[in-house]
This record gives sequence, C-alpha cells and structure tokens, in this order.
Amino acid sequence: MSVISNVIDKVKHIDPEQKEFHQAVIEVLETLEPTVKRHPEFVKAGIYERIVEPERVIMFRVPWVNDNGEVLVNRGFRVQFNNALGPFKGGLRFHPSVNLGIIKFLGFEQIFKNSLTTLPMGGGKGGSDFDPKGKSDGEMMRFCQSFMRELYRHIGPETDVPAGDIGVGGREIGYLFGYYKKIRNEHTGVLTGKGLEYGGSLIRPEATGYGTVYFAQEMLATRGMDFKDKVVAVSGSGNVAQYAIEKVNELGGRVITICDSSATVIDEKGIDNDKCCYIMELKNIRRGRIQEYSEKYQAECFLDKNVWDVIREKGIKVDIALPCATQNEIDGQNAKALIENGCFCVAEGANMPSTPEAVDVYQESSILYGPGKAANAGGVATSGLEMSQNSLKLSWTREEVDHRLLQIMKSIHKSCLDASEAYGKKGNYVTGANIAGFVKVARAMLAYGVV
Ligand code: NDP
Repeated sequence: MSVISNVIDKVKHIDPEQKEFHQAVIEVLETLEPTVKRHPEFVKAGIYERIVEPERVIMFRVPWVNDNGEVLVNRGFRVQFNNALGPFKGGLRFHPSVNLGIIKFLGFEQIFKNSLTTLPMGGGKGGSDFDPKGKSDGEMMRFCQSFMRELYRHIGPETDVPAGDIGVGGREIGYLFGYYKKIRNEHTGVLTGKGLEYGGSLIRPEATGYGTVYFAQEMLATRGMDFKDKVVAVSGSGNVAQYAIEKVNELGGRVITICDSSATVIDEKGIDNDKCCYIMELKNIRRGRIQEYSEKYQAECFLDKNVWDVIREKGIKVDIALPCATQNEIDGQNAKALIENGCFCVAEGANMPSTPEAVDVYQESSILYGPGKAANAGGVATSGLEMSQNSLKLSWTREEVDHRLLQIMKSIHKSCLDASEAYGKKGNYVTGANIAGFVKVARAMLAYGVV
C-alpha cells in the first residue's frame, strides 16, 4: 500500500464519524501522489502522516442567556491545524450543522489555501453549532461574548487570528473583538474582518466574492474568454455571493440566480446592482428570507430547493457557475445537468461546494474548474493584508488593497497552472492547487524537524 492510502485509511479508522474531513483529506492526498515519488524526504520525515493531524483541537462549553432569561448551552470549537507558515488563520462558523468533522475539514483546506496566497499564515478554523437565525442583537452579543470568554486564551496576533465565515459577519466580529479587547486590555490585530473604525481593511468584506470572480476571469482568459454577456449562476445570498454578484455586474455578466437555506430565486432579467443592494439590506440588516426578493421583483421562487436542483429540473442554461453557499451543494447529477446545458466554467466561492462525484464530472468534461481553496483564497489573502496594516499601524486605500487582491489571485492562478504542469497534470487546477499549497508547507515542516 502507498503512503497516501495508508494515511487515508488511518484517518478514516480513528475518526469514523468525520465524513467531511475524510472527504477533504481524500481530495487533497490523492492528488499528492506525484509528490511522494519526487520528494522521498517528505515520506521519511512523516510529513503526510503529520499534516492530517491538527496541532491542537480546542472544544468548549458556550453558555448564554436568551431574551426570555433561559440558559442555553452550545459547543465551541477551534482547530489549530498547522502553523508551519505563520500564525493559525481561518474563520469562525456559527451554524447548527457545525461539528468537529466540519471544522477539521475547513481547517485542513485552510492550510493549503493560505499557503497559496504566499502570505505568512498557517491554517485553522473554528465555530459553534449555534444558530444565528432569528436571534436578536442582544442574544448575538451575549453569545459572542461567552464564546470569546474561552477563546481569548488560545488566540493572539502572533498565535492564531480568527475571522468570519458562515453566520459570522461584521456584527459578530465587532462583538467578539470588543470583548477580547475588554478582557485582555489590548487593542491588537487578533481578528480580521474588523470594522474600518477599529482596524479593519478596506475591501475585506468584498474580497472573497471579488477574488472568486478574479480567479474565474483568469481561467476564462486561458481560453480567450471573459465575463462580458455571460449568464452566471450564483448560489447563496450572504457575504461571498453578494460581492461575487457585484463584480460579475462590473465585468458585464448577468447573474440570474440566488438562494438561501429556504429558497432559490431565478431572475432571468439579471440581478443588477440596485437589486444587489436590496439583497445586502435584506440579508445583512433586516436578516430576512430571500423569498422577499422574489415578491419585490416578481422573480420565480422555489421553496426548499437549492440553485443547482432548480437549474437541473428546469433545464436552465448558464455559462458560468459560482457556488457561494456551503459544502456539497452540487452533486454529480446537478454537475452533469449544468454541463449538458452549456456551462463551461465553475469557480468555487464556497468551501468544497462540489461533491467528489461532481468534481469527477467537471474533470471528465474538461470544463474550467477552480476549486475553492484556490478560487476563494482572496478572502483570507485580504485578511493577511489586514494583519499587515495592523502591524504597520496604517491603512491602505481601497484601490491599493483591490490591486493587491487582484495580483494575489493572478499569482495563485499561475501557481496552480505551473504546479499542474510541473507534476504532469497540465491545466488541472485541483492537482495544481493541492500540490503548490502542500509543497511549501511540507518544506517548512521538514526544516523544523519532528515537532
Ligand atoms: P454567509 O453566512 O454570509 O452566507 C451564507 C449563505 O449561504 C446564506 O445565504 C445562507 O442562507 C446560504 N446557505 C447556507 N447553508 C445553505 C444550504 N444548506 N443551502 C442553501 N443555502 C445555504 O456566509 P459566507 O458568504 O461568508 O460563506 C459562504 C461560503 O463561502 C462558505 O462555504 C464559506 O466557508 C466560504 N468562504 C467564506 C469566506 C469569507 O470571507 N466569508 C472566505 C472563504 C470561503 P441563510 O441566509 O438561510 O443562512
């Protein structure tokens, strides 16, 4: 048996219930086979065995009091996966589906994504099974404060720098940072995604969505194409989706889909910038349901269906797909329908939104496929830029940060292509992203000896 299959077997055996983590490990390790032959020093140093084991896993009780005075308890997580390249770095997710396996999958992906950005950041992830839906501002604040009451002792600007993810946006980062500042009596860059008034970076809210579109733009350019007049499907209606839509509009494309966890909306006329502002107000301020969009703009609404089911069932034609909601949202049959209806490019704003069967379909059909760890790395890259500005105690302009983001996305795209070619899989962004991300981390781990 090869080193790779041994490691995969062990991961499955010791944590049998962590399905999403297994999926992420298999996806990465299977593409690393060429590195085993080329780098016997990695095998000798046990790099493959060590990289799948987090440096540290922290699980904790998060008790809080709701508006009715009842005491509730959730579970908090922080997985500090790998700090070979820099302090642990990765978001916090608040969603009822959160468990250790999901946080480990996200933290594992984050190692390679952060490596691809070329910035000095290790990989980590955290969160809670807390459901923000329907909670008042006061409940959110009390929950965030209780979460930070434990997390503060494990993080720091040189140790571990969390950020947002699903369910953790500007409001939550404000509450988390405010409480950290209070109990540590220090105002440091311990979180990213902060408000502009207290150390945040311009373009950070936009960065994941913009970066995903920049990455897609680079892929399209390899085939002499661009976004102009293309029909685009976006899923989700949160942070990543909102700014992906804004950037597609700027580049002349037409976005016709959005969703949330309760419905999908199809708007054939296109979600222009005015409609996008409405979505931002609906989701970020009023915290309403996407169904309201369909009522306001007379667009078709499909309850309890995701974007990809609706596209398949209705035979809707799209040129480009940008999944920006959650993991495993596109399955094999939906991927097949997308491609049969003419889709030639998929760039993942979300983390692992395509099942392994969907990825196989993309690869067999030779469409352009940008996996999340490369395509959505713009968010964490701009978090890295926020950390730099905090350390330098200065702020860069919007244009400067956006320019750096674009350059980073171009450089990630090039690294993926270069690595795919160097390891015999030319044009395969999955292999390219995994190998380019891995080799750098592996070399650093090798340099440290067995620690
Ligand atoms: P948000 O919480 O802002 O938005 C998530 C959106 O996806 C919401 O519209 C939510 O609906 C929807 N959604 C969640 N679960 C489902 C589901 N099962 N079916 C359909 N829709 C669903 O999160 P983000 O936009 O920040 O994150 C989206 C994805 O992007 C995640 O995979 C995240 O890991 C990834 N990502 C985010 C980064 C960032 O900077 N924020 C960086 C890199 C990756 P509802 O409103 O009903 O909850």
